[in-house]
Amino acid sequence: MILYDPSLVTNCRDYGIMLPISPSRGEKILEFLDVVPERPEKADSLVTREDIERVHDRNFAAALYGDAPEGARALEKALLQAYELIDAEGKPHRYEPEKAVKPLGGLFDAIRAQSAGTYLACRMALEKSFCYYLGGGMHHARYDYGTGFCLINDIMIAAGKIQAEGRAGLLWIVDVDAHKGCGTAELIRLARERGDLGGGSSREMLSLSIHMAGGWPLDAETLAGAAPGRAPLVPSDVEIPLEAGGEGRYSAELERGLRGLEELSAARGRGIPDLVIVVDGADPYEHDGLPSSALLRLTLEQCVERDMLIFRYLSERNIASAWIMAGGYGERAWEPTAHFLRAATGTNASRRYQ
Ligand SMILES: [Zn+2]
Repeated sequence: MILYDPSLVTNCRDYGIMLPISPSRGEKILEFLDVVPERPEKADSLVTREDIERVHDRNFAAALYGDAPEGARALEKALLQAYELIDAEGKPHRYEPEKAVKPLGGLFDAIRAQSAGTYLACRMALEKSFCYYLGGGMHHARYDYGTGFCLINDIMIAAGKIQAEGRAGLLWIVDVDAHKGCGTAELIRLARERGDLGGGSSREMLSLSIHMAGGWPLDAETLAGAAPGRAPLVPSDVEIPLEAGGEGRYSAELERGLRGLEELSAARGRGIPDLVIVVDGADPYEHDGLPSSALLRLTLEQCVERDMLIFRYLSERNIASAWIMAGGYGERAWEPTAHFLRAATGTNASRRYQ
């Protein structure tokens, strides 16, 4: 099942943000597949402030909702930081507010709606075993601020809501974006420290991230200034950094990682997960248009092999999975997802998912 709502698609340029993110990525995938997606109704109202505060800092939520002492200016500042729109010298960076046709603060509503799509994809996956949402994947968002084009962490918001509603106990998050799933790892760690996950709780999340060993964060200075116990220094439960030139080892490393998640689940006295959220970034693709993702260059065939490996692994074990698009830049970012979905639709495993 494919989930898509054109009204949830965000065009960064409407807000003066000049990132190479193609707003037509989802449309191109659907055109290639020639399928009609599921269109959720009123998805934008499904993620509430309570859902955001379940995983993020309450003061950060107050800034997003205009309740902080600075009022609406706090939201604008949070967005400028999340999208890296002001450089170290205080000058606009990839930001041309004079070209904006919508107020920057409106982006928060669009991002919240995207998060609701991720949550809906989880619900549909639990019902139908497989759901691919053509949106979402803001895995860099931290506990108390956004970064790396990610304001809030839709993955953790959706996962936390699904668990709070009693729909799932154990979840895995499998992140194959080119960049490390650093915000997700931090949020899981903090949730464990609060006792919301693991220990005596019936709720647990385990994360896997396979990513470029370098390239994120963007510079050594950021890394040197990072606080211990906070992203990006918090590893995922299964952390697989790949050095440049390691493309040939990708599938073997990924499979080893999936087995590692099984072992970690067993060590905690758990069986297979109730749900897996796959953060299916297309930016490891060799034709991706973001310079900072260039240290990992999978061919189209390797991208499809990556996704099919996860798809088969989960379907053989009857594990439900919600897939979200995550990173993918430039005019060819739609290709890995489209070719994976075509390959998956042609397999026996996927027929069970119809
Ligand atoms: Zn990425």
